[in-house]
Amino acid sequence: MARTRRQQLGDYGEKLVGKSPCPKCKRVKTLKQLPINFACADIICSFCGFLAQVKSAEKENVDILPKYLLGAAWGPQKDHMDSGIYFPLFIVVVSPDRKKKALYYLPADLQSPEMFVPRKPLTSAAKRPGWQGFTIRLDGEESHKPVRLKIA
Ligand SMILES: [Zn+2]
Repeated sequence: MARTRRQQLGDYGEKLVGKSPCPKCKRVKTLKQLPINFACADIICSFCGFLAQVKSAEKENVDILPKYLLGAAWGPQKDHMDSGIYFPLFIVVVSPDRKKKALYYLPADLQSPEMFVPRKPLTSAAKRPGWQGFTIRLDGEESHKPVRLKIA
């Protein structure tokens, strides 16, 4: 099946993160893409089992973080948060022509529940009526800011 533009952007981001060392075990080329729709995580370290999510955004100026990122399904996210489980977050910001790119990282320890904001459930006219997503706020006063990483 053909990948949508949004999925292609996601693939690009996960591949870029895959070239970075694993934040936990420090090995390189061990961060692998998980199967699509694996709840709450996008990559796994094939050596130490480290899990993280990767969000990608297109912006002309990659030096400025987006204020919001689109999350996935709210249900699994809320279940994990209710159990105190947070996943480290990589943020890939790339210019539309892919010439400029930046990589940011926010460890799970520095995330707060307030960052994750549920969206309105989709209306009955949508492809998936009742489905509820969430956004990830990066500009909140209560949250720590992601750090910019070197790109390998
Ligand atoms: Zn690792």
